[in-house]
Amino acid sequence: MALRPNAGKPGTPVILGIPFDANSSWLRGAAGAPPIIRVALTSDSSNSWTETGIDLSPEGTYCDAGDLKFTFDEPFVAIEKRVGELLDKDLRPVCLGGDHSITLPIMRAFGAHIAGLTILHFDAHPDLYDELEGNRMSHACPFARVMEEGAAKRLIQIGIRTMTGHQREQAKKFGVEVIEMRHLPALDRMKVDGPLYISFDMDALDPAFAPGISHREPGGMSVREALAHIHAITGKIAGADIVEFNPARDNTQITATVAAKLLKEILGKMIGG
Ligand code: MN
Ligand code: MN
Repeated sequence: MALRPNAGKPGTPVILGIPFDANSSWLRGAAGAPPIIRVALTSDSSNSWTETGIDLSPEGTYCDAGDLKFTFDEPFVAIEKRVGELLDKDLRPVCLGGDHSITLPIMRAFGAHIAGLTILHFDAHPDLYDELEGNRMSHACPFARVMEEGAAKRLIQIGIRTMTGHQREQAKKFGVEVIEMRHLPALDRMKVDGPLYISFDMDALDPAFAPGISHREPGGMSVREALAHIHAITGKIAGADIVEFNPARDNTQITATVAAKLLKEILGKMIGG
């Protein structure tokens, strides 16, 4: 399956790599993920069909805007601008992180273009800290900022298993709908009126399935559970991100394959509904 060039009709999903991990609180490395996920997506080890019956191989099914180059703009400004340009073309950005802090500038761009957005956030962590180690832009904070700024209408979190007292308070304050890992499956909760955005932190998965992450939190989803919840989504998907894959921790390269599988199935849901 060959990569698609940077062009597309309105509504086409467009991949954008965001090689940025400076807001990681513990280990760097996620910035190296985008090209590795691309290689895994197009590997001849699998075919181009999604489980839901969508063939990603025809020209124009999705397109690829390459990796964001950071130059003179502040990184969050650069991310917001580039995602905004893709939304201006009526494309549907699918961003490959990077650490989870990138979801804030992505949501700023979405919030300026699309009203009434619901975020489906897969993660071991709620990422609702007001600040972490003095950094309000930490990858542990993006959804506190998104909700404060009103960039999305509704936030549904799934797979959470690291709640703290402070973050429970934050969830209550912002009206976040938290589906904890211990309460899965929650397939009916994936039925949302669009538009919606999927933010998938790879550590939502159990580290047995996806060890190539910085914060390994046992007791997570199997790949099959994650796919079942993705496949259960209803509502028009306006965009997505897959973040926190850290190739430096991926000793067997399995996490790259898992990230590519999730990307493939998310693209299939975007195209085929
Ligand atoms: Mn996260
Ligand atoms: Mn996480």
